[in-house]
Amino acid sequence: MARVVVVGAGLGGLAAAARLAAAGHAVTVLERSPGIGGKLGRYARDGHVFDTGPSLVTLPQILDDLFTATGARMADELDLVRLDPAVAYRFGDGTRLTVPGRPEDIPGALDTALGSGSGAQWTALMARAAAMWRISEQPFLRSPLDGARTLARLARRPTDVATVAPWQTLRQLGSRYLAHPHLRTLLDRYATYSGSDPRRAPAVLATVAYAEQRFGSWYVRGGLHRLAEVVADRAHAHGAVLRTGCAVRSVLVEGGRAAGVALDGGEVVPADVVVSDIDATALYADLLPVERRTMGVRRDLRRTTPSLSGFALLLALRGRTPGLAHHTVLFPEDYDAEFDAVFGAAPHPVTDPTVYVSAPDDPALRPDEDSESWFVLVNAPRHDPGSGIDWDEAGLADRYADAVLDVLARRGLDVRNRLRWREIRTPADLERDTGSPGGSIYGTSSNGARAAFLRPGNVSPVPGLFLVGGSAHPGGGLPLVTLSAEIVARLVGRS
Ligand SMILES: Cc1cc2nc3c(=O)[nH]c(=O)nc-3n(C[C@H](O)[C@H](O)[C@H](O)COP(=O)(O)OP(=O)(O)OC[C@H]3O[C@@H](n4cnc5c(N)ncnc54)[C@H](O)[C@@H]3O)c2cc1C
Repeated sequence: MARVVVVGAGLGGLAAAARLAAAGHAVTVLERSPGIGGKLGRYARDGHVFDTGPSLVTLPQILDDLFTATGARMADELDLVRLDPAVAYRFGDGTRLTVPGRPEDIPGALDTALGSGSGAQWTALMARAAAMWRISEQPFLRSPLDGARTLARLARRPTDVATVAPWQTLRQLGSRYLAHPHLRTLLDRYATYSGSDPRRAPAVLATVAYAEQRFGSWYVRGGLHRLAEVVADRAHAHGAVLRTGCAVRSVLVEGGRAAGVALDGGEVVPADVVVSDIDATALYADLLPVERRTMGVRRDLRRTTPSLSGFALLLALRGRTPGLAHHTVLFPEDYDAEFDAVFGAAPHPVTDPTVYVSAPDDPALRPDEDSESWFVLVNAPRHDPGSGIDWDEAGLADRYADAVLDVLARRGLDVRNRLRWREIRTPADLERDTGSPGGSIYGTSSNGARAAFLRPGNVSPVPGLFLVGGSAHPGGGLPLVTLSAEIVARLVGRS
């Protein structure tokens, strides 16, 4: 039995704690905020309740594995609902497309909305994405990053390399398979699931679309923050101790290996194993001593592009919106202008952004039956007062919130006169609340063919120190973060 300290109670940290405690280790989780969940946060006021981070669960089988490994049945712990329709899209020219929740219904819906042949093109693309998924799931997503060995596992057969086409971008893949510009926009959007630009992200991100459609879009009744609570319960049930309000100042290194952590205020928590769930850039820059052996990781991190951030509005609304889907996406005329604004040389708030609305029809999230609680999100450049956007600049957040509400109104969802109140979450708030530098949603982006290999691995160069969470391998988003915990639990179990 090892003494394990987990730094950070985001989903990755909680999942690692639950698995390691279930494996018999003595686990303590240290979280600097007053509550758990990190980006998987919740905000409640006047009976309106909001998820402040994730609003979509994909790949539920990965969560199912977590519950099974910790001695519970997911169905007993979480009320997961498969969404149908999955998402309602409105394009810049007014075209509407409602994507059904079952994969077999999708081609027909595409033909109806975008013209005959669209469904067949999308189906051909999804067949390619399915092949990519089969090649990459086990050797990459479910295995530790292992340099040359990872590459060898991925490139076992020349045909696998041709299928994954690491030299091709997501945009290029879309152009080969899809004729209708709206179909291409649909595919491009999946780059943003890892905070990336489809013009630079690899073609293999088509697997994100495949995984979502094949395994479904899901919602957790009561709000997705429930997920953090029930995973924390799994950790508790196996004896893990969760301490909130405990900021870790440094990882202690003794005799060349991790020996525990020191908290702000000076308390030392000794450990045989330290699992970091905090942003990897912050871990290597602020919590570890500068050492030669960590130089390679720091250099790789400098070569990556941080993921995009988000500007969120929590809208407490009077009345209900007839026919509104759980998820609605309103695209602009010029999608590329959005990626230029976020990732270009002169980052700025997107003038005419894609607007995402999550409006769960869930009585637990509203004060009464004549109200709605909307989570509205637009892609945004990171908080970077030095050389980019300073989201704390006086008046900016309010002005931009007004602009987003105007865009919503122009695209057919005018809620300005139904507003009880609004709560604004800028990238600067995200940075303050979760410790993610600049408020990056997903750690480093997938921009560039090598991005996935530059992301910090789960095994650090300091023996006894492991990384989980969205800024480490295999990347951000709830399913991958949960996989990072599975990988680390396996590695610690073996050590
Ligand atoms: C607006 C938004 C929308 C999103 N939408 C989706 C979605 O729909 N679907 C999806 O799958 N994913 C989505 N994501 C991504 C998903 O939320 C994240 O990938 C995931 O929750 C990150 O988990 P994590 O384990 O990396 O920890 P984080 O959530 O990053 O938590 C890290 C924790 O570490 C703590 N911490 C930091 N520094 C210290 C320290 N020094 N000492 C102690 N504790 C510390 C922080 O307070 C925090 O609680 C979204 C994220 C955001 C922000």
